[in-house]
Amino acid sequence: MKLLFLGTVAGATTRDRNSSCLLLTLDSPMQNWLFDCGERSHYYLQQKRIKLNSISKIFITHMHSDHILGLMPLLCAMSVRKRKDDLLLFGPKGISDFIEMNLKAFYTELNFNLIIKEHESSQLIYEDDFFTISTHELLHRCPSFAFRIEQKDQFTRFNTERLKAENIDVGSWVKELKLGKKVILPEIGELKPQDYFQNQVKGKIITVFGDTQPNPNEIIASKNADVVVHEATFREDLIESARKYGHSTAMDTAKMAKEAEVKWLILTHISARYSQQELREALLQEAKSIFPNTDLADDFREFYLG
Ligand SMILES: [Zn+2]
Ligand SMILES: [Zn+2]
Repeated sequence: MKLLFLGTVAGATTRDRNSSCLLLTLDSPMQNWLFDCGERSHYYLQQKRIKLNSISKIFITHMHSDHILGLMPLLCAMSVRKRKDDLLLFGPKGISDFIEMNLKAFYTELNFNLIIKEHESSQLIYEDDFFTISTHELLHRCPSFAFRIEQKDQFTRFNTERLKAENIDVGSWVKELKLGKKVILPEIGELKPQDYFQNQVKGKIITVFGDTQPNPNEIIASKNADVVVHEATFREDLIESARKYGHSTAMDTAKMAKEAEVKWLILTHISARYSQQELREALLQEAKSIFPNTDLADDFREFYLG
């Protein structure tokens, strides 16, 4: 599993850094999911040679321009590249009107099926054999959400010896068993995954936050997560600005990570005032003084999760 940051600056894009965008690559099954889409995201994706139409889901945390200005160029580029697969897009209420109005203004129709799922509260928004995804309402100047992705446990190293010993023929039911489901076979009865696989792989929990100031929902969104991606717009000396604009300081975020007992914290959405390396390092150290396992994202920086 890989996190590739394609935009890490808060607010307007600068000469060196794009506004918010994160690509999450999952490997079992292989999928590319995009979180937020700052204005240069489409260009950055191409720079990293990511096929635009390999993205199967887009998640928009909130409607502020630094998180959404790159969405229409990306959707139009997917259409120009003759996308065939459906695209699932999750975002706050109002995103559907935003997309429709833009397409109308451009006299453009997408040539693929864009399925838009809007949410306006903390809720379960998606579930399949591999993942559950929920939204968690945050505290910002507009409706803003965190996405909590919970990967389901999977079973590996199929025990064919036991199957042979019990005279059971392999069938398509193995797939169900691998996903942790019980299977009932005629004349044989119920098979449990833990009896026929030697290894149970614990699913990971990843939480990606939208802009927010500290609030209790953050703990629910990130409780025991393997990795949390969270804004740290300001250093502690500018805590008043952080509160005024509905943002967090690096120390706010580190305190939250500690309380939620997360394993790893990655800070992003850093104010452009900290573009110099030593200022960025100072911001990181403020967070590390409270939560040591913290990293700082930068445009094009990649992080791997086992
Ligand atoms: Zn923002
Ligand atoms: Zn915002």
